[in-house]
Amino acid sequence: MKFNCDENQVQIVDSDTDVIRVIRSITETGRQDAFFIFDVQEIKRKYNNWKEKFPRVIPYYAVKCNNNLFLLKILSSLGIGFNCVSKGEIKQILSLGNDPSRIVYTNPAKLSSHLRYAGDQGVDLITFDNESELHKIKALHQSAKLLLRFKCDAKISQVSLGLKFGCNSVTEAPVLLRVARTLNLEVVGVCFHVGSGCEPDVYRRAIATAHKLFELGKTVGFHMYVLDIGGGFPGHKGSSLDTIADIINETLEEYFPVDNNVNVISEPGRYFAESAFTLATLVYSKRVVMDPVTGIRNNMYYINDGVYGSFSSILYEKRIIRPIPLSDVQTREVIPSSILGPTCDSVDIIVQDIKFPNLNIGEWIIFENMGAYTISCVCSFNNFPIPRVFSILNESTLLHLKENSESLGEEFDLSFPHSLVDDFQLMKNWNENQQVHAIFPELLT
Ligand code: PLP
Repeated sequence: MKFNCDENQVQIVDSDTDVIRVIRSITETGRQDAFFIFDVQEIKRKYNNWKEKFPRVIPYYAVKCNNNLFLLKILSSLGIGFNCVSKGEIKQILSLGNDPSRIVYTNPAKLSSHLRYAGDQGVDLITFDNESELHKIKALHQSAKLLLRFKCDAKISQVSLGLKFGCNSVTEAPVLLRVARTLNLEVVGVCFHVGSGCEPDVYRRAIATAHKLFELGKTVGFHMYVLDIGGGFPGHKGSSLDTIADIINETLEEYFPVDNNVNVISEPGRYFAESAFTLATLVYSKRVVMDPVTGIRNNMYYINDGVYGSFSSILYEKRIIRPIPLSDVQTREVIPSSILGPTCDSVDIIVQDIKFPNLNIGEWIIFENMGAYTISCVCSFNNFPIPRVFSILNESTLLHLKENSESLGEEFDLSFPHSLVDDFQLMKNWNENQQVHAIFPELLT
């Protein structure tokens, strides 16, 4: 199998070709730089699963999680929304032809120039959690439709966000709603982010609190119709939405039954991106050290990506990293080992003290589930190259899409993925009208 390493094209692979085979074929060409394989099919699978598990909840993908252009194009094609936190992210999403009504601007603390830009572009759905932001919004974007962000952190979580954002729902929220009313601003709902990798039950508490705030909003004089349940949904291979979905759907039914006409949206990031990206890295140096006391040998492998690159989340998330040798290592000796990044900083350690097969310089180590908070967090420290992303799509999925699509001809441009995912109803709407209507009509009023 020959692989065309072109970042601007999705490469169609045989139905029996998996990601590992693609990585092998690329490494056999003598490539030395680290790279990602983006399996497009995984996004389609995730989207189908989301629709099945959360029929009522419209996802607004968190762009910060991974802003790979091709990923964003695929997600645009699916007709979902986007959660942006800066002018740059808003610009990127609009540049793909998305209507501004498909964006929720979720940074509670906004730079004035970014807020003005959002207003100029018609990005109206905006979150806030403090009084100074309300005055800023009044001055720079007074037609905004506001979501009040309150804090409801999980007790246990991989990443907690409440330290920085979200008002207290008891002491601060009532004051903020009254200030918003006095300023003649429009609050259309509430939002929260319980944190990532958390105990599912926290969503029950958060939705119950949201309901109290809806009631409060009513008494202050607001018509609220948007509930944003945030992100935090697991996305690694083998993870399941089942427990979270049961809890959320049941709690929504209790507090926000369908006939209440509340639009429920969410902000998943890692759920969509995490499992779709696999990273391949090269062992370019190896140090063998013997413990002077125990005499135990330790292999130190230096690879060409690290915590200042795609592994930065090691520093702030309790993340479990599982390195996988690309070579067949069944018969090799297993030795205590560490895997280290390429920079000159001693914090640049990916894994320590694991039992790992004995590898040689020039062999590859791969890492699955590398789509979330990896590429988007790379920094230029020591100026190592950023891994390139090569996208693949399985032939059978493509055939399926072709068969199910009236609009696809014999020839179509794979770099324009709107044509790839025509089997979704929302996608059909999208194709018919590029400047799509709002996801829910109230936003147009
Ligand atoms: N929404 C907001 C406001 C966030 O801050 C984040 C992540 O930091 C997300 C959504 C996405 O979270 P996750 O990737 O865990 O779904």
